[in-house]
Amino acid sequence: MRQARTTATRESTETMSTGVRQSRGGFGTFDKAVKALNSTTFQVGDDSEVIVFLDQENFTYALRHWVKYPDPENPKNQITRVEYCLEEDCPLCDVGDRPKATAYFNVVDLGSPNKVLVWEATPDPTGAIQKEFNKLVKKGQNLNDDGLYWVVSKEKGKNGFYSYSIDKLTEEELATEWKKLSPLTGAQRDALRHRAYDESYIEYKTREEIQEFVDSLPE
Ligand SMILES: [Zn+2]
Repeated sequence: MRQARTTATRESTETMSTGVRQSRGGFGTFDKAVKALNSTTFQVGDDSEVIVFLDQENFTYALRHWVKYPDPENPKNQITRVEYCLEEDCPLCDVGDRPKATAYFNVVDLGSPNKVLVWEATPDPTGAIQKEFNKLVKKGQNLNDDGLYWVVSKEKGKNGFYSYSIDKLTEEELATEWKKLSPLTGAQRDALRHRAYDESYIEYKTREEIQEFVDSLPE
């Protein structure tokens, strides 16, 4: 059994950077390290990350509602809760909230190369990944080929939303441009693939649970 995750806490880790930290002092950086250890999701930090894809494509997708509502304890704050859309007979769709699509990819962050992470990619990064996928397929290659690495970064646009870029890196480029990171052997990739997530990663709530949440929302 995998550790149960709540979609509400996932949002709070969205801004967390898993990149290389300059200082290890302080409770703040310690808390970040603990969160990173417990997290199964890949977060694109403020620094570029180098990752490996374990599959040729996303292993599943889901529609998710990002529900914003004022914090009852402190109404100046907004809480964002992420809930999977039930797609058919969904109480959040019924009240007019529009879900967004997310594609799920098994990845390994070379910064912590022993761990399989899930990149829960919204349409912007997914579009960037798909562009690279299409280029590779024409050449008979795949995203998860041995010897291929990907530099992932994000940039905040004027509209406040991030746009993502993903750039291919060969093993030679990794060795010269990212000296602190070690390449993954084919055997390591295979071992990680055995621990990759599948569709059971998505834990849908029941209609009743979603309805209860909708009923609890302020008017
Ligand atoms: Zn819905």
